[in-house]
Parts: sequence; C-alpha cells; structure tokens
Amino acid sequence: MADIKTSEFSKASTLSIKDPQLQRALGRVGAGFDTSRQEAIAEVTPEVWETWREEARSIKAHTLDHLDYYLEMVYDNVTKAGGQVHFANTADQANEIVAQLVRTRNVKMAVKSKSMVSEELSLNPVLESLGVEVFETDLGEYIIQLADETPSHLVAPALHKSKEDVAQLFSEKLGLPYTEDIEEMARAARVLLRDKFFQADLGISGANFVVAETGTLVIITNEGNGRLCTSAPRMHIGITGMEKMIPSMQDLAVFLRVLPRSATGQRITSYVSMVTGPRRSDDEDGPEEFHLILVDNGRSRMLADPDLREALNCIRCGACLNICPVYQKVGGHAYGWVYPGPIGAIVSPMLVGLKQSKDLPFASSLCGACRDACPVKINIPKMLLNLREKLSESPDPEVKASPDLDNLLARGYVRLMSNPELLSIAHRLGRNLQKPLAFLPFSPFSKGPKLPLPLISQWTKSRDLPKFPARTFHEIWKKELSKSPGGKSPEIPVSDASDKP
Ligand code: SF4
Repeated sequence: MADIKTSEFSKASTLSIKDPQLQRALGRVGAGFDTSRQEAIAEVTPEVWETWREEARSIKAHTLDHLDYYLEMVYDNVTKAGGQVHFANTADQANEIVAQLVRTRNVKMAVKSKSMVSEELSLNPVLESLGVEVFETDLGEYIIQLADETPSHLVAPALHKSKEDVAQLFSEKLGLPYTEDIEEMARAARVLLRDKFFQADLGISGANFVVAETGTLVIITNEGNGRLCTSAPRMHIGITGMEKMIPSMQDLAVFLRVLPRSATGQRITSYVSMVTGPRRSDDEDGPEEFHLILVDNGRSRMLADPDLREALNCIRCGACLNICPVYQKVGGHAYGWVYPGPIGAIVSPMLVGLKQSKDLPFASSLCGACRDACPVKINIPKMLLNLREKLSESPDPEVKASPDLDNLLARGYVRLMSNPELLSIAHRLGRNLQKPLAFLPFSPFSKGPKLPLPLISQWTKSRDLPKFPARTFHEIWKKELSKSPGGKSPEIPVSDASDKP
C-alpha cells in the first residue's frame, strides 16, 4: 500500500501551517470549491436538494445492507457482458491480479484515469517494477506523478500546487519552454498524453459507481481521459472498492445530480462514461478484454462495524474537505495517506488500523459543517466521536489514545465540576492566586505577549487566560438568598420543558 504516515499527523500538520505557499493554495482553491457547491445547490430549492440527499443516502444504505446480493449481481452481469470479475481481499492480492494480467498479456505501457483505489494499492510502483511504463492521464494526477507526490485532495489531486510550481515542473521534467499560462500548460500535457492512449496496451480506471443490474462501470470526468483509457487500449482493468455498487440505472440518476454539484459545483460533469464489458463484435472500438477488480482491503471490517459502516456511503465528492476548517489549514498531505479530510479521518483508521492513526479522529473541531455539506448525509462528527471513544476505551495500551495524564486531568475535572464545595474552594484559590500574576509583565491574564506557563504555555501563548470573577455565581446566589423574604429562594422564571430542543 501507499506509504502510510497517518501516525505523523500532528508533526505534519504543524509543518503545513507554517508553509506559506501551501496556505495560499489552500485559501485560494478550497474556498472556491465550496462557493461553487453552494451556488449550484442554490439553483434548486432546499426541499429538492434535501430530497436528493435523502434518496442518495437511502440507496447507498440499502446497497450496503444487501452488499452480498449486489456483488453477486455485478459478478453475473459483468460475466454475461463478456468481462471477468476478480475479488481481492487485500491490496497485495489486487496488485497480484493486475501483475498476473500484465505478465500474461505482455503489457508494456499503461494509461490510467484517476483512481483513488489504485493510489490506495500503490499500483504504479508495482506496474513499474514489472517494466510497464505508466501514464496518469487526469491532469492533476499527471502533475503529481511528475512531481513524485501523492494526491492532496479527493477531487483535485494537485490542489497544493501553484501554477508556478507546475510551470517549473513541466519545464524540468518535460523539457517544455517555461510558461505560467495555464491553458498553454494544459494544451501541452494534452498533446503529450494523446499519443499514449493509442500506444498503451492497457487502460486502468477506477469507477464512481458500478451498476449491479447491468454490470456497468460509471466513470465521471471533466477531461474525457476516462473514456479514452477505457476504450483505446486493447485491455481495460477497472479497479474499485466493493462499496461502489448501486442497484440500478434509475438509482444512478440521483448520484449524477448530487455528485458534480457537491464536488465542483457543476450541474453535470463534461463526461459521464459507462462501460459494460469489452468490445462486442459489432462495436467500432473498445478493448478486447475487460477485467473488474473489486477490492475489500479492510472494507468488510468497516461494514461489520454498525457505528462506522456509514462511511462506506461516501461518493468521494470532496465537499467535506472543502468546508473543513482543519483541512483548510493543514491540507491533504498532513493526513498521511490517500484519503484526507474529515472522511479520511474515519476511513484511514478503519483501513490501516487505529494504532497507526491515533491522531486522525482528533483532527476535527466537530463543528458539523462536513455533515451538513455531505450529499449522502454521512454523520462524520458522530463517527469521529465514536473513534475517539474506541481509542480511549481500548484495552490495548498501544491503541489507547489518552495518556494517563490526560485521563487523570479529565477525571479531576469531572470531580471538580460535580462537587459544589470543591468548585467553590477552587474558585477562591484561583481568585487569590491570580492577584500576584495580574501585576506581572507578560501576565497570562492580560492582552499582549505572555509568559510561557508550564503545561499550558501552548494555550496561553496566543490566548488570554480568562480572569476569575470577583464573585462566583454561588456567592451571588447565597447573598441573594439571604436577602429574599423568609430566606426563601428568589423567584426565577422556569421555562416550560416543552420549549426545550
Ligand atoms: S463524506 Fe460526504 S462530503 Fe465527504 S467526500 Fe464523502 S460523500 Fe463527499
């Protein structure tokens, strides 16, 4: 699998925040995507949008509930159409299936359209080790292939690159005259890649959806490269996660509405390619062979977990990334693996293991913006909380997230807040202790630079410590109580319980 650095989230995110060029790129592109999404959604009424979201959610939930049935249906229909279906339990098995096909068909060159699953499998190095020349044909993927990097966004893999970076890269790696003209760079890449489609022996694609009733792969692109990859070379291998099934063509309609709007703010993408089996005798073109590899690689584990299986509904639109305040600051590479952002913080721990991804469920402010933006209504914050609970409750000390000091502090806090006498003593203590500190230069209680206080220096270096009040609520309450006639509690309005949310 791709180099997994999910355990380095804290370190990597600190570096990302200090990278001015990355910060500029994230500010420029991420927010733009979300504005386009909101504009596209505003074109339909909120009721219509909610109906589509609910329909999409329930189709995915239904399919996952009957996944064995639909997988069998896909197997039957792809086979009927003349293709072959392979099931891979692990990344290694999936790579071995591809390697076997490459060896036996004497493949020398492969073109690929964008596929996150092939990134998950680290397929390119496997192909290269077999002597196959590989060309990514999605422009963003091509850029990061040239830069020898991994994608930083589900939809825009080279989002972290500026046009100057790409100009430099094209000039160094492709020997093209340096230009920062985006159209000119895109044209140059297009000319270069065009020939490869026709020279390649193998086309590799992912799939946005697999329609079970027909065994059809649905590939949604804006560049048309998916269509060329799947039709020009003599063999086509589709590689996708086993959760990508949907029951019927009729079900596809709602996803064709919600996915482009959520991903790029488009009503529909420029290309929607549907591939059913290899070329038939009366077809003018198409591959002689078609193979579909359905990858598990930890998805069964997710499916078996009632609290987290909903993450398999994801249609990889990237909307949750574009709206996430954490992703907007740290970018995709900080997450340390193929799947970044809020959904990546759930999928990665489930696929690579909690032990290796202990920081990721905490990479969220739990503001809920991701849940509201998600076109299939995935409750991301709830699942992140669930993962946090799994981490803190784990009997395995290597998985357990909270070090003992954190647990001790949390327990102390609960004790303090549930005991009024203790709380009152703590208030008085804090009030008295703050007095000498308030007169110090760089006091943590004043605005401006702060003294680095032990344990809380990271917190106070950019924040003012709130002052303890002159009188606590308890003290005010006691005084008011003593003033009230007959020592009775003063009247306070009590709201009707039915008003409560
Ligand atoms: S979790 Fe929802 S919003 Fe995020 S990528 Fe998946 S489908 Fe899109």
